[in-house]
Amino acid sequence: MSDDGKKIIELPYSLTVRELAVLVDNSPIQVIKVLMANGVMASINQQIDFDTAAVVATELGFEPQLEQTEDEVKEVGEVPLWRRLIEDEDPALLENRPPIVTILGHVDHGKTTLLDAIRHTDVAGGEAGGITQHIGAYQIERNKRLITFMDTPGHAAFTSMRARGAQGADIVVLVVAADDGVMPQTREAANHAKAAQVPVIVALNKIDKPDANLELAKRQLSEIGLTPDEWDGDTIVVPVSATKKQGLEDLLEAILLVADNNTIKANSGGHCIGTVVEAELRKTTGPMVTLLVQNGTLKLGDIVVAGEGYGRLKAMFDQRSQRIKEAVPSTPVVVMGLNNLPKAGDLFQIVGSEKEARAIIEKRKEESESRQHSKRATLEELFAKYKSGQTKELRIILKADVQGSLEPIINSLEDIGKQQKDINVSILHAETGNVTESDVILAAASDAIVFGFNVSADVSSRRLADTEGVSIRLYEIIYRLMEDVEKALQGLLEPEMVEKQIGRANVLAIFKVSKHGTAAGCRVIDGELKRNAHVRVLRDNEAIFTGEMASLKREKEDVRNVREGMECGATLKGFSDFEVGDVLECFVIEKFGG
Ligand code: GDP
Repeated sequence: MSDDGKKIIELPYSLTVRELAVLVDNSPIQVIKVLMANGVMASINQQIDFDTAAVVATELGFEPQLEQTEDEVKEVGEVPLWRRLIEDEDPALLENRPPIVTILGHVDHGKTTLLDAIRHTDVAGGEAGGITQHIGAYQIERNKRLITFMDTPGHAAFTSMRARGAQGADIVVLVVAADDGVMPQTREAANHAKAAQVPVIVALNKIDKPDANLELAKRQLSEIGLTPDEWDGDTIVVPVSATKKQGLEDLLEAILLVADNNTIKANSGGHCIGTVVEAELRKTTGPMVTLLVQNGTLKLGDIVVAGEGYGRLKAMFDQRSQRIKEAVPSTPVVVMGLNNLPKAGDLFQIVGSEKEARAIIEKRKEESESRQHSKRATLEELFAKYKSGQTKELRIILKADVQGSLEPIINSLEDIGKQQKDINVSILHAETGNVTESDVILAAASDAIVFGFNVSADVSSRRLADTEGVSIRLYEIIYRLMEDVEKALQGLLEPEMVEKQIGRANVLAIFKVSKHGTAAGCRVIDGELKRNAHVRVLRDNEAIFTGEMASLKREKEDVRNVREGMECGATLKGFSDFEVGDVLECFVIEKFGG
């Protein structure tokens, strides 16, 4: 207790809103509310610094103090499955394998440039002929030893992607721009590495810049528990310039040193398991999937299960597009033969038969469906609560393209809220930018609905929304958003059917077709088009027609759905006046909250 009777709490230099909520023994939403009242818009997984956290703690009746034991690493995370599997192998069968390294860091600090620069240091690659392809991972040779580098899968901007990056690696190289210092994503990446119990090497980048301040950056690193070894800490900090190609040798040496100290091993004769690095659907070959083998040996003809895809490996290629027959631990390979696209970050494994593969996938699907059902059930419970009057709040997370459109929407929502006698409209979080996974996590944690205006939701946030049972609703016209909020409010009292957008396509060309007049040649830019769904035609953001699809074709073949990135031809029932530049919005009608 402090002199004035307040309870003292120790806070670290940086922590997430969720972690702070636990420390102050309050709900994350309460913490977010206090933050909002103090002008800070933060989502549940966002890192906030000590000063900000201290304001919240004080308001909630605590006396905050800076945590003294900053060197003490909290073992919060879980050791990834593949590493546990290797730990279970007979030690006598384990051999050294090349370290798998992933490069993390704040946006624009130079991750991509550094990965490219390192790729070009590989003399052996040149000698072996063939140019290294971009397959999401590559190996280079240094002092007759191999090092495997893995790109952070997909959009590096998303938290869970970075977490997966750290999970798949033996070593994290944390890039910190010396002219910018430690930034929020630097802290976040450091925490992911800590959570996955992966050692960190800091590449202090952009040392060529006149405003580079190495001392300041090192001090900031010490503050987040990455004290440089020259200051008696145990983090190797290597000054580099990715653009000037300086310090790269030192960095590679540091990687090998850390690898030696961390006994990186695998059993090449053991059960084959690894991580999906990248997956892409190609017209001619079907799914092409980059796998990183972490234990065992992957062989042509093996039956692989990855995510919700499986298949017998028909062909394998190395990073120089050369056909290979087998891949030993730490080798990235591109494989052909899976029937479905897995996600980057999924684990893969080898099974004995296709039957076994199908059984595993069936089980996975059932599990994911039952997860969805249980989440749905909780949403239904939520509606029941609304109905019975226990909960009287419609919680909204709002994303918009620009600040200028956020304000009028917030004002209108507040107006709608005032008109309601029984139900509050509460905006938990309002921010510019696309719908991200953190928005979905916040919505799931607080039973909120995500409304987006003139923004999109990327695939990973949609997937998460699906599994978490969160509704994301995207609009291009403000009044339609308002209409839906009003409907939602009524829906809360009396469940109602509402539209759920499932995809959008740009009209790129118009074709005359005999039977249905005119067809629109389009590319799906978001989600998917479905043959039996409803369609709205938007021109300059105005809906000019709403109706049903008459036909949906890909390359003259009738299809039931067309996914993001694909081209197709569509005709509508009762409409044929398409113009190039129109947008087709595809939607289904379902019970609100479904
Ligand atoms: P990422 O977002 O972390 O992948 O960052 P990028 O690799 O895209 O780099 C962001 C910007 O910083 C680019 O304009 C790079 O050219 C620049 N950059 C990267 N490394 C260096 C460096 O060592 N020195 C300087 N001066 N600029 C760099």
